Amino acid sequence: MKTIAGFDRIGEENAFAVLARAGALAAEGMDVINLGIGQPDFRTPDHIVEAAIKALRDGHHGYTPATGIPELRAAVSGDLHRRFAVEVNPDNVLIVPGGKVTMFSAIMMFGEPGADILYPDPGFPIYRSMIEFTGARPIPVPIREENGFAFSADELLSLITPQTRLIIVNSPANPCGGVTPRGEIDALVAGLADRPDIAIMSDEIYDQMLYDGEEHVSLLSYPEIRDRLILLNGWSKTYAMTGWRLGYSVWPDDLYNKARKLAVNAWSCVNAPAQYAALAALTGPQDAVNKMLLEFDARRKLVVDLLNGLPNVSCIPPKGAFYAFPNISATGLKAKALASDLLEKTGVATIGGPDFGVLGEGYIRLSYANSQDNIRRAVARMGDYLADSQ
Ligand code: PLP
Repeated sequence: MKTIAGFDRIGEENAFAVLARAGALAAEGMDVINLGIGQPDFRTPDHIVEAAIKALRDGHHGYTPATGIPELRAAVSGDLHRRFAVEVNPDNVLIVPGGKVTMFSAIMMFGEPGADILYPDPGFPIYRSMIEFTGARPIPVPIREENGFAFSADELLSLITPQTRLIIVNSPANPCGGVTPRGEIDALVAGLADRPDIAIMSDEIYDQMLYDGEEHVSLLSYPEIRDRLILLNGWSKTYAMTGWRLGYSVWPDDLYNKARKLAVNAWSCVNAPAQYAALAALTGPQDAVNKMLLEFDARRKLVVDLLNGLPNVSCIPPKGAFYAFPNISATGLKAKALASDLLEKTGVATIGGPDFGVLGEGYIRLSYANSQDNIRRAVARMGDYLADSQ
């Protein structure tokens, strides 16, 4: 059956295939350690779960406004003000079913044949997949280990063409754990001054997952680009709510109504109880988040130390998110083959770097959203595998 050309180009996120395979191997009795999928291994904090149950008991069973319940949009605005001292009108906040939906909407809005869209490489695979779906030209912005896995503003700006319509940035970053320093963001914003026709989508979904005193510089804090900035954020990672399918975006005035109409056409609204849960997440105690972050930090140090103890493997300490991106090029192994063998032969699920872009060759991604004990066992198995294959 013939479908539109975009469906021949659409890609996917291999982490979901690895998750399914890991599940199948576990069902066959293998002792699988999952460092593949990017989701906290913690439960959603109890008071958030209770708020959803209460919303159901209170009868919140119907459609909500397509843009989200007003209390939640106001709470998002308040949270952004508290954390970044920025003014965000709740009328610019859209509640969406997952952070992914913001990237889908923004890329659909700007992508078409003849348009160029810049995106990070290595980066979240859906950026490129969606760009290709629209027929726009994907232009990878290199994210290099020697830059601490942050983009170089000079390099990014040099990739802009007259056809550039949208630039996607992501910090703290998946899959490398890099955090873009303020100086690079300043230089990017300054460099875009003479191209007011280019929109920017800033994926800040890991904005609270920072270590070693790193600061998060939100692109919201640059007034000169606010009229063309789309902010992607949500609850999935910070509040361990990946399965709730919930996120939010901030849109400039003239794009907001288009994004709202897309919502009306495609999903109507986010399920009501999840929105009340999100409200409790933002307005309730934050100690569960802080506890998770402390544990992620301990695991981060552990996994980096253990990886650096393996022959021919080196891993710079990630500054944000919950991923380690060790360089395995000195092993002489291909990254995807290594990731596949690690799962099939040792039961350790990881993701090969090439699943995040061409510059991902020579790396694998380990999500350290797993217990310290499992991290120790997983890296030990990796060490045995490498010893056997060298
Ligand atoms: N952006 C980045 C960089 C991510 O890593 C992810 C999830 O892995 C998302 C967005 C999507 O988040 P959500 O689960 O809320 O759709």
